Amino acid sequence: MSGKAPGRCCAGGSKGACSDAWPDPVEAAQAANLEWANARFGPESDLPGRADEPQRPSMLWFGCVDSRVPIERLAGLGIGDALVHRTIANRVASDDPASSATLEFGLGVLGIREVVVCGHDRCGGLAAALGEPGAVPEAVETWIEPLRALIERHRETLDAIAEPDVRLRRLVELNVLDQVEAVRRSAVHRRLEQAGDAPRVHGWVYDIATGRLRDAAESPSA
Ligand SMILES: [Zn+2]
Repeated sequence: MSGKAPGRCCAGGSKGACSDAWPDPVEAAQAANLEWANARFGPESDLPGRADEPQRPSMLWFGCVDSRVPIERLAGLGIGDALVHRTIANRVASDDPASSATLEFGLGVLGIREVVVCGHDRCGGLAAALGEPGAVPEAVETWIEPLRALIERHRETLDAIAEPDVRLRRLVELNVLDQVEAVRRSAVHRRLEQAGDAPRVHGWVYDIATGRLRDAAESPSA
């Protein structure tokens, strides 16, 4: 929380030279945090006492990094309700230590039994996977490479959809269903399944135009 970003103004000059300066996003975040903390952790709140308790989230949520998807707000999740893991295009990859660790921690350690994989319409990661290789930075290309394999597996279905927006929408759903299977194939899920204690795994898609969730398996795009 130290250091200040240089101010910007509407004309691109220095902040001091412009009367209509854009708010500095870091300063705005710090000010918003102070206001929020005073309201939520003030004398009327029961949150300070709960800080000493271990977390007991009821949901493990895998979502995309997209800034237009406000995960906690769209699902009415409060503090402590959900463990949230975000990656580009909401991938749950067995070769990704971060995904595997989150699954093990959420299911095996915290005992969560409701898992959500939630994609979203107009996902840039999936749009990039539909495009030509090399159009995105190498690190992104590496991450979305398995999505290109997913596209190849569903090539016939996707090619039959003429409208690009509808094709992407269908790919978002197919990817969610693929990641749901990835959760079910994970070591921790298999262990719990053998013990008769498997979590429920839900595949949802968030529509960023309407704010609504839909079940990826019951899509009208199919
Ligand atoms: Zn996305």
